[in-house]
Amino acid sequence: MKIICVGRNYAEHANELNNPLPEQPVIFMKPDSAVLLKKRPFYIPDWTDNVHYEMEVVIKINRIGKNIQRKFAYKYYEELTGGIDFTARDVQSKCKEKSWPWELAKAFDGSAAIGKMISKNNLPPIQELNFELKKNSETVQIGKTDEMLFTVDQIIEFVSQYFTLKIGDLIFTGTPAGVGKVNAGDVLQGFIETKEVFNISVK
Ligand code: ZN
Repeated sequence: MKIICVGRNYAEHANELNNPLPEQPVIFMKPDSAVLLKKRPFYIPDWTDNVHYEMEVVIKINRIGKNIQRKFAYKYYEELTGGIDFTARDVQSKCKEKSWPWELAKAFDGSAAIGKMISKNNLPPIQELNFELKKNSETVQIGKTDEMLFTVDQIIEFVSQYFTLKIGDLIFTGTPAGVGKVNAGDVLQGFIETKEVFNISVK
């Protein structure tokens, strides 16, 4: 199983980190060891002083595919959820400065929190979803998938030119504005529409 992530897919988030808007999806990956196991807390690694939460809609691939056309992309996923792309922002800034890859900042153990899957049939259309992250019961991120720069189906079309998609692969579709630091003791709750999909304690 692999985790494919899209960076800078919401204009306001790209702006808040002073990144230019991309002309094509910005793609990186996390290994399967990055998955934060269900019901486990997120432990802040000791090599970073600034881990950020990034709430994202996560799509689960349910068919094998390569060179998938945009118009058929919807057939490759049936379930989705919310997740957190935990990012060591201090390490990422250093990587960006040196033009190094981002994996140390983005792909470490526990960096991919994945909520409970929901059938897309029980939700509004994929590009009309509302999602939300609460930190300690306070709303910190509000997202609407109609603000994605690249739609889910465009992302699938794009990435499947490079990587064969397999059953169980996950796609993190980018975070809206409002990212911020996590501290030990925080509780992060993610919602897709009104459904709570995860509840994670930070340690
Ligand atoms: Zn992200």
